[in-house]
Formats: sequence, structure tokens, C-alpha cells
Amino acid sequence: MSNSSPNSLSAIARARNIRYFMISFTDLFGVQRAKLVPAESIDAIAANGAGFAGFAAWLDQSPADPDILAFPDAERLFQLSWRPDVAWLPADLHHVDGQPLEQAPRLVLKRVIQQAAEMGLRVKTGVECEYFLLSPSGEEISDAGDRQSKPCYDQQALMRRYDVIREICDSMIALGWGPYQNDHEDANGQFEMNWTYDDALVTADRQAFFKYMVKSIAEKHGLRATFMPKPFAHLTGNGCHVHFSVWDSAGDTNLFADPEGELGLSPLAYQFLGGVLHSAEALCAIANPTVNSYKRINAPVTNSGATWSPNTVSYSGNNRTHMVRIPEPGRFELRLADGAANPYLLPAALIAAGLDGIAHKRDPGPRYDNNSYTDPLPPGTVPQLPLYLLDALRRFEASPVLPQALGESFTQAYLKLQRQAWNEYSAHISTWERETTLDC
Ligand code: ADP
Ligand code: MG
Ligand code: MG
Ligand code: MG
Ligand code: MG
Repeated sequence: MSNSSPNSLSAIARARNIRYFMISFTDLFGVQRAKLVPAESIDAIAANGAGFAGFAAWLDQSPADPDILAFPDAERLFQLSWRPDVAWLPADLHHVDGQPLEQAPRLVLKRVIQQAAEMGLRVKTGVECEYFLLSPSGEEISDAGDRQSKPCYDQQALMRRYDVIREICDSMIALGWGPYQNDHEDANGQFEMNWTYDDALVTADRQAFFKYMVKSIAEKHGLRATFMPKPFAHLTGNGCHVHFSVWDSAGDTNLFADPEGELGLSPLAYQFLGGVLHSAEALCAIANPTVNSYKRINAPVTNSGATWSPNTVSYSGNNRTHMVRIPEPGRFELRLADGAANPYLLPAALIAAGLDGIAHKRDPGPRYDNNSYTDPLPPGTVPQLPLYLLDALRRFEASPVLPQALGESFTQAYLKLQRQAWNEYSAHISTWERETTLDC
């Protein structure tokens, strides 16, 4: 074990009784992959990289390609509250020759953050990661008593899961994330836990770890957590709303805030929003990245009376039926994304769209204050969101903004793997098809 630097990971291991480090990366489909490295070897592995065969993960690599190397970011160490002898480290992927793997989601986000920095801007985000607690098979919600048709904020059902919620929230407190509320959400079995916004990369690493933590602590309690966009057709799905604001490079002044502006937002804020609306259909390929995602957006009404997810490319004030909501001065909420969205690619695509809006001074058009569910805008007023994944992938490919901002290499890799997933889905013959077509 190296004793060289007091800041080395081995020194941190000694100080905090860490025995193993997870060197973790998030692949193109948002799956987290890790190697577990003993403290005795961590300094050498951190310096030389942990080797992975890229083809074995959801990356556009061939089995014949050389290894990729994962270099952990020691600044973002999360000790596992439920296994304190283990610490999780997000890693960046490189080729063996030292070149960055351009398609790696965390590097894609870092590049977009750099583009913002070159414009003197710093984006801060907060995410709301809804999830269900299910039985271990994943087939039904775990609490048979959780049956209200309007289960949101259900106090009784929330407290039946106190042991799980408290353990997760205590962990966020110990990690210094500033969690401030936990609740039962709009579907039976569904919960949400909120922590304080921060720089986009900080929030992305926290979101990745949050998903791992929620699944792990649920398993410890004999349950199964899912962030799947729409696990049950009749219930509200799992959103991943993103709140965002743009700050000066020091991070001290919120450049979206303007007391003189419409609803307390600056011209820069509306340009950023204009960019998000301009690229919205393409953004769906990232914000709604699975076949199942399209059963959450554009969905029929659920048991609770509302899906809480958008159908159109539109924005509103403090109104939850549009794609973008303005909850208060100084920030927007993108309600489009779901629980399958990659924690790194989602902010990367959102920021890229917004920066394009600033660069081109894009006009977001009018705000709509209608109830989109009961009182939709006349057809043709605003664009409809893509109805299925292939539609969104085509929009992404044709986008003049996102492929270029996120990188050619990423775009090629992402579209290739997503098309494979779509083709796999298309080859599947469902019960519904047989039932409706057998007697044709
Ligand atoms: P709601 O349910 O009303 O949509 P939540 O309280 O669940 O909102 O989540 C709000 C999220 O927005 C939190 O992560 C919060 O820290 C974040 N947030 C608040 N202000 C800002 C801001 N200026 N920029 C980015 N995120 C913000
Ligand atoms: Mg091996
Ligand atoms: Mg919320
Ligand atoms: Mg919610
Ligand atoms: Mg929200």
C-alpha cells in the first residue's frame, strides 16, 4: 500500500475504515458497472486505471477492441452508509493510449459543462428521482395496504416505509447533500426524496449514486426499488424532473433571476428555455430513452386522475400539465424526463439545448396557462411530443443542435445501440398483438 500522499485514497481508506472501493462508471444505457478494489491496491489502480472490456457493457465497442480504463474521481467519494467499509467512486473512461472515450456519458457531460464555462456560465440542477418499492419479483407493489386512488402524500403508506426512507435520507444527510423532504408520490407504492441542487456534475454523480443506494437499501429491507418510467399502465409513472438555473462562472449570481422579468426570469433564462423548446423532440431521445418511456408521456389518465407527465412542447407558470413549469422566479422545471434517463446524458442534452438557445437568442414563444389534460391547446398550436422511441431517435439524429454539441462519436454510438434496442423490441410479438390480430 502506498503511503505517499495524505490525500491518497489509501490514506482516506485508513482514516475512514474503508476496505474496498467501487470504481464505477455509467454506460450509454445508464447501467452502472463497477470493479471492487481493495484499499491495498487502490492507489495503483487509481493512477493506472481499472480495466474493462467495453463490449461487455452498453458501449459501442467490439470484443476485439483493447480495454478501456476507468479513472476514479477521488473528489466524489461516497461511503456506503449501509456498508461503511465500502466507498463508491465515479470514474471517467479512457482508451489505453490515454485518449478520452468520447462516447462515455460522464465525459459527454463534462464537455458540455466546459462549453458553458467558455460562455462564462455555470449550470446548476436539481433532480426529483421518483421510484416504486415493489415486491422482490418486481411484479406488484410491496405494500398491499397502499390502495388509495389518490395516494399522493399518503401519510399512513409513507410511514409503513419509514425504515427504508429514513435510512436513505440519513445517508444523504451524512453525505452532505442537504435532503429536505420525503413523500409518498402519486402512484401506489411510489416515493420521492428531495435533496438540494448543485452544479450539474455534482448532481449527476449524486443521482447515479442515489439510484444505486435506493436499490441497495430496498434490497436490504427485502424489497425491490424501480425507477422504470411506467411499470403499471393504470398508475402514474416515474418522472425525473430536472430543475435548472444558470449562474455566473463563480456560481454566486443566478443569471436566470430577474425581478423585472416575466415571472421573475431574465431574458437569458427565456433564451435558454427557447433552446430547450427548440430541441425538445430530439431531447426525448435522451430524456425518455426506453421503449417504456413513451407509455409515461402522452399517456391516458391514470387512477389518480392525472399522469403528471407532459404531452406537448410547451411551457407554463406554476402549472404541472406542461413540459416546462416555472415553479418560482429564477429557475425552470423540465418535467419531460423519466427514471430511465441517464444521470449524465440528461443534463448534458438539456444544457446543450439551452446553450444553443442563448447562442441564437431563441424565443420560447408564448406561455400557456391552460390545463393541458382537461383543456388541451387546439391541434397544431404547439408540437406534440414523440409518440415512441424510434420517433425520438430520428428527431435526435436530424437535430441541428444535439449531435454536434454532444459529439459525433457519442451520437454514433448512442444511436447504434438504441437502434439495436428498438429492433429487438420490434422483433417481439406481444400478447396484445396476438389478441387483436389473430382473427384478422
Ligand atoms: P416540485 O415537486 O415542486 O417539482 P421538489 O421540491 O420536489 O419540487 O424539487 C425541487 C428541486 O429543485 C430540488 O432538487 C431543489 O434543490 C431544486 N432547485 C431549487 N432551486 C433551484 C435552482 N435555482 N436551480 C436548480 N435547481 C433548483
Ligand atoms: Mg478477466
Ligand atoms: Mg417533487
Ligand atoms: Mg414527483
Ligand atoms: Mg417536480
